[in-house]
Amino acid sequence: MARQTAASLRDPAALQAAGLIPRDRLGELERVAARYAVSLTPDVAALIDPSDPHDPIARQFVPDAAELRMHDGEAPDPIGDDAHSPVEGIVHRYPDRVLLKLVHVCPVYCRFCFRREMVGPGRRQSLSRAALATALDYIRTRPAVWEVILTGGDPLILSPRRLREALRALGAIEHVKIVRVHTRVPVVAPDRVTDALVRALKVEGKSTYVVLHANHPRELTERARAACARLVDAGIPMLSQSVLLRGVNDDAETLGALMRGLVENRIKPYYLHHGDLAPGTAHLRTGIADGQGLMRALHGRLSGLCQPTYVLDIPGGHGKSPIGPGYLEQAEGDGYVIEDFRGGRHAYPPPAPRAAAPCGSAIYSADQDH
Ligand code: SF4
Repeated sequence: MARQTAASLRDPAALQAAGLIPRDRLGELERVAARYAVSLTPDVAALIDPSDPHDPIARQFVPDAAELRMHDGEAPDPIGDDAHSPVEGIVHRYPDRVLLKLVHVCPVYCRFCFRREMVGPGRRQSLSRAALATALDYIRTRPAVWEVILTGGDPLILSPRRLREALRALGAIEHVKIVRVHTRVPVVAPDRVTDALVRALKVEGKSTYVVLHANHPRELTERARAACARLVDAGIPMLSQSVLLRGVNDDAETLGALMRGLVENRIKPYYLHHGDLAPGTAHLRTGIADGQGLMRALHGRLSGLCQPTYVLDIPGGHGKSPIGPGYLEQAEGDGYVIEDFRGGRHAYPPPAPRAAAPCGSAIYSADQDH
């Protein structure tokens, strides 16, 4: 493993000094770092094995010259946030929920990030007070908004005081019942999950969910597990989201170990994302057929608790759709053929014909004629 660093590594020179990249890659990686933000926390840097050229943690966080190559279909805003942003900080794509982006910075910068053109130092770090007030007004005046998802940037980079203010403001909106927080912090900076931060996440009369972003079982260190336990023990349910990444978790053994590790820590796997078409990320994307094969492998080997939903964010801002393998086929007539977890195929009968409702029956209403 790499030597322990005291501070986050924020440029290729710091990565080289920590022994994570050779000197002869400095020039090309400086060019990557000039375009996309770099940051590895001490917890992440310590997880990397510098002697392994294919280390799955390094692949997620250490820049790569391949990031300078754009591929067909890649776009700066691959999931179409901008098209659904009515006011600064809000993305309103689905009827019952909005994203609220409080910050534009993260403790680490993932090389595959779908918001890589929008996050990082050099931009405004967080929503101004005036912009936050406008965003809260937008939510307040939309009674259909049942859930607010704090994302960004990583919202848990904020101080407990700033988080508490934001959550209290959301808590005062009657129709908002759920606050969901998307974060990588419990894994990449577990010391930030203090008692004060946990208290800040709890809002009287509302339910807070924390969704952990983790992609490899090695990320679930003792310190990360303890940070998650502080949240769950405080009554905050945890879910996970992972990104399917070539050379990181695109084999059934690694993906299965990740899902089991999450469940063992009381974190329900929620989404497995197909890699988004973010610029310069083709070397980390798998094919959709590969992902479907992996989902079949999980279905065949692991408890239902360990099954995430494999999803694709449709480019252009059309939202997420499940893209997992199908197990049900229409057979001749109205019946079906259903596949079991071992690949066996079984007939399932068509529904019984509906009995005609007797004349004058209470279940028949004249309104149904119209
Ligand atoms: S933590 Fe999330 S928002 Fe931040 S760089 Fe990683 S994927 Fe992007």
